[in-house]
Amino acid sequence: MKLEKVAEALRERVKGAVETDHPLARFTTYRLGGPAALYVEPHDTGDLEVLGDVLRTHGLSGGRLPVLPLGRGSNMVISDAGWPGLVVRLGDSFARIEPWSPDASEHGARVGAAVSMPQVANWAARRGLSGFEWAISIPGSMGGGVKMNAGAHGGEVGDVLVSATVLDLGSFTIRELEAAALDLSYRHSNLTPTDLVLEARLLFSPEDAAVVKARMEDYRKHRAATQPGALQNAGSVFKNPPGDSAGRLVEAAGLKGFSVGEARVSELHANFFIAGDGSRAQDVFDLVHAVKQRVLDGSGVELVPEIRFIGAFEQAATDQ
Ligand SMILES: Cc1cc2nc3c(=O)[nH]c(=O)nc-3n(C[C@H](O)[C@H](O)[C@H](O)COP(=O)(O)OP(=O)(O)OC[C@H]3O[C@@H](n4cnc5c(N)ncnc54)[C@H](O)[C@@H]3O)c2cc1C
Repeated sequence: MKLEKVAEALRERVKGAVETDHPLARFTTYRLGGPAALYVEPHDTGDLEVLGDVLRTHGLSGGRLPVLPLGRGSNMVISDAGWPGLVVRLGDSFARIEPWSPDASEHGARVGAAVSMPQVANWAARRGLSGFEWAISIPGSMGGGVKMNAGAHGGEVGDVLVSATVLDLGSFTIRELEAAALDLSYRHSNLTPTDLVLEARLLFSPEDAAVVKARMEDYRKHRAATQPGALQNAGSVFKNPPGDSAGRLVEAAGLKGFSVGEARVSELHANFFIAGDGSRAQDVFDLVHAVKQRVLDGSGVELVPEIRFIGAFEQAATDQ
């Protein structure tokens, strides 16, 4: 009831969409999960200021309402019960890329957090700028890419990130953070669950545009041949343990094609788990836990999930 009032107050003042009990599945590559109690799509920073104002007025700032930044939903499984608090998904004015010249080199870009990573890769390649080719097949947003320090083919966001603008959704204060302050490592940053990346500033290296494009195309073809595409999965389920590959360990445990409910380990790549028709988010959760347990039993290696489970799940009953 209270959130309805918050939504009404927001609708009077913001340009972007404001909804209650809003379905989220279509915003994720898994296409799973329940609704957001409150969903806001701020059009610009003005809308974010209003959001902070309204939450304060209703006594919901400072962490009293759980918040979730949502990018392109390509690294998450949202629970069947949905998200009990606020989901913020950045709108149009955060979907722009502009040239950026920190050192008069003109080799940089200011990238809004809602821009997709393949868009950044294409933008850079067209200008003969190298450093983002690896991202051509990663269906995430720039904001999610910074949060996860996304990477592939030996490259990662941290290689080209100079700084980022980050809004804290608890205090509604903005910080400009140098890349070094983000403690980036393999699929890790120190951004907290209330940190919302608004913009990233990237610096590339100049290279012949044809060479950059050819490299990007090689990566794209390799992906198409070895991975099942973006439908009904969220990329690598587990992080690779040091010196090994999670896919190899899952395959060695004989788990290609293994299923729980309607979710199954991909036959093409054992570190991709596919949600079949009728699958629940809980099926994916249970599958991840069952596979983790079997790999641990068989090899002694404890795999760490890279995908994020959002909201409430029942503890897996399928571990044997
Ligand atoms: C087919 C496929 C292939 C993939 N291949 C790779 C790969 O090669 N390498 C790789 O690293 N990843 C890969 N991924 C995973 C995924 O694309 C990346 O992790 C990506 O960075 C997630 O971005 P997103 O916008 O989808 O984030 P989401 O899934 O929306 O969110 C992921 C996390 O980031 C947070 N977040 C999202 N937006 C913001 C923001 N603006 N500010 C702060 N936090 C935010 C969320 O709260 C959540 O904690 C793949 C996924 C798929 C489906």
